[in-house]
Amino acid sequence: MLAKFIWEIIDLVEEKADEKVKQKIYLVGGAVRDFLIGEEIIDYDLLCEKSALALAEFLQTENYAQIVSIHESFGTVKIQLNSPANIQLDLATTRTEIYEFSGALPIAQYPQNINIDLARRDFTINAIALELKPNQEFEIIDIFAGQADLKNKCIKVLHDLSYFEDPTRILRAIRFAVRFNYKISEIDLKLITETLNKPQIQGLAEKIRGIRIGIELKRLLELNNYLDGACLMTELGAWTLLSKENLIINLNPTDLPLPSWQARLAYLLWNNHNLLNLLELLGFEKKIQKQIGFIQNIINQNALNQPSIKLIKEINNLDLDFYNLLFNLRPAWQNQFKLLEKALPQIKPLELIEQGFSGIEINQRLEYLFQENLLRLKQ
Ligand code: ATP
Ligand code: MG
Repeated sequence: MLAKFIWEIIDLVEEKADEKVKQKIYLVGGAVRDFLIGEEIIDYDLLCEKSALALAEFLQTENYAQIVSIHESFGTVKIQLNSPANIQLDLATTRTEIYEFSGALPIAQYPQNINIDLARRDFTINAIALELKPNQEFEIIDIFAGQADLKNKCIKVLHDLSYFEDPTRILRAIRFAVRFNYKISEIDLKLITETLNKPQIQGLAEKIRGIRIGIELKRLLELNNYLDGACLMTELGAWTLLSKENLIINLNPTDLPLPSWQARLAYLLWNNHNLLNLLELLGFEKKIQKQIGFIQNIINQNALNQPSIKLIKEINNLDLDFYNLLFNLRPAWQNQFKLLEKALPQIKPLELIEQGFSGIEINQRLEYLFQENLLRLKQ
């Protein structure tokens, strides 16, 4: 079922809009796919035949929604509904996209007709539109036989140059295959391999598309079965999008859960000397790079063998995700760390002050007690 607000928009346009706003309005992309296979619809993308901005302005004047942002070069507008207030919708104008070179950001030309807009899309299953009509009626527009591929559970691009034009589609194909348990078609597997063998595609993230590759990788790694996605990337050789060098990918199942995609990626890429560089290219936040850098250092220095109270505190201060990352990478350290924690002195700094310690003596005393406890526990 489509959400009520979709039909409210269509009815409002039908009842109150003038000729400038009245136009064919389509539901497109993932929402149509998920509607047809009965999955929950997360984002609704609406496509306007003539002008998304005209529709957005009309909905704002009618007090139905607020314009959040306008992306003129793509003819897209983001709006926020007044009720339910937590819903944002993307409105787009039918467009075609031109890629000046492989991996380039496309240049948009709009308005176009619906068929041309569908032809710029990634996969047949994502290139189906529903023309939305009053009274909750709709017509399915499926010029690339996407419904048949939904039935066959098959991922297929619309034309042979598609992966080369936009190599992030390789990561998208892997994501949809893993997410829905679909197959990538034989022809697509061949096209993907051919694309990944081209020198200009290898290390693409280092050249131009780091952030966009990061976004698609993030969406892949957010899946519960992200390890299947990582395995498929390895099978297809898709890691080459990140680096020209042969990356070593750690595909071992994890012992402790890694909820965030950043920790998952760090786990997968752990054995590469340029890990932090790679994470930088993909747009990781500084805070995360810092935690990963810290873990890298303590592993390289085998720091648990020269423990200190400070080290234990620093490890305990890691976000849960990175704490788990550390012990996934060094499972044997779990028991060792428990022992170290047990050795932490129970005495409070205040009690030490009462005993006559002051300044740095307090920490020195605590450290001494810690090492003493540790020796005892090890015996
Ligand atoms: P999800 O449910 O994961 O959001 P989605 O299909 O909605 O899946 P989006 O990334 O939200 O994926 O994109 C919306 C639509 O835009 C897609 O269904 C597809 O038609 C089109 N699209 C997105 N990225 C690309 C791309 N790189 N190349 C071509 N078309 C794309
Ligand atoms: Mg979407």
